Amino acid sequence: MIDTQNITQIEDSHTSGAYPKRPLILVRGSGSTVWDDTGKSYIDATSGQGVALLGHSHPAIVEAITQQASTLITCPEIFYNDQRARLYEQLTLVLPDEINRFFLCNSGTEAIEGALKVARLLTKRTGIVATMRGFHGRTLGALALTWNPKYRKQFAAWQPNVSHIRYDDIEAARQAITDETAAVVVEAIQGEGGVHPASVEYLQGLRDICDETGALLILDEIQTGFGRTGRWFGFEQAEIVPDVVTMAKGIAGGMPMGAVAWRGAFGQLSGGSHGSTFGGNPLACAAAIASMVTLRDENLVQQASEKGAWLVEQLQNLDLEQVRDIRGRGLIIGIEIKGRVTPILQALQERGILALPAGNTVLRLLPPLIIAQDDMQQIVDAIKEGLRSEG
Ligand SMILES: *Cc1c(COP(=O)(O)O)cnc(C)c1O
Repeated sequence: MIDTQNITQIEDSHTSGAYPKRPLILVRGSGSTVWDDTGKSYIDATSGQGVALLGHSHPAIVEAITQQASTLITCPEIFYNDQRARLYEQLTLVLPDEINRFFLCNSGTEAIEGALKVARLLTKRTGIVATMRGFHGRTLGALALTWNPKYRKQFAAWQPNVSHIRYDDIEAARQAITDETAAVVVEAIQGEGGVHPASVEYLQGLRDICDETGALLILDEIQTGFGRTGRWFGFEQAEIVPDVVTMAKGIAGGMPMGAVAWRGAFGQLSGGSHGSTFGGNPLACAAAIASMVTLRDENLVQQASEKGAWLVEQLQNLDLEQVRDIRGRGLIIGIEIKGRVTPILQALQERGILALPAGNTVLRLLPPLIIAQDDMQQIVDAIKEGLRSEG
């Protein structure tokens, strides 16, 4: 029995303070729905921050975790493991053939740290180019790539030097990327930065510049990977093959996991140059395998594309005065509002919909790929009413 009486009080007494919180206690989830401590249900158009691609407590994930928990939970990478081997095979099925080396870790920011080390070790260079509005995580290396000074400025003295260029501006990229650049790090669609998709020409242009200069092209697919955009990975839209891909969020059905993948032709890391105690643990690997198999068996990547197109069309048809722009691909959708998004999020929550901001003025929808038609209709209706009441 959960004693929900004092939960907010206890959390407030002990939390780091790093998270601005909403006054809502979530205690259960199933499919696209989560419930609070009073039994009120919400449609989770956040997927728990982009994680729950299969929704909450999907039977395939529950089964895989339960099974693996009673078999072997922990097994460091100094030993071989069956689940880890199977996961590598699954990953190679969804990534381009060239990309077949992996470092497994436990979060997105750790995947970025790993990618930076890979770039440093494989190119012997130090320069990093990232983009304005980009978000790549909050540990010190990844933080240096993250654009918004609100995350970064207190730690500036501890960060490597990174040049930030305008996103989707190929001329800026041509100026900044040189033969001293180890890596260029971009999102296929900037998520936290406001749901801004890169143009196909931009990603192709970056590929060419990286080929000319020998810099590695790192695609941060932490938010966009595993079907979110209606493709397995966002870069597929541009028909390019990156040198390095970072993954996390939806990779393992809600279990914490991150991964760095790179072109095998570049070689491996030398022994001892990187590591992680929990990286590649069988429990997370089993969840990731189950997630990828389910995404494929239930055709959810294609569904994300169709559902996203339907949602965008419905939202456009509302023709709301307060909406400046609607952007995205598949089930990562940004609705730019004339004004601040916070009151809209509150109005949606009152109507039983949980959504995310992306910056101050963009409402971000990241629903589970399994979301049902009825639930999507409810999101559309709530946005219509919520914007009318708050706009
Ligand atoms: C969320 C996110 C990260 C950071 O992932 P964490 O698991 O929170 O460390 C990095 N890059 C992108 C694109 C993200 O969306």
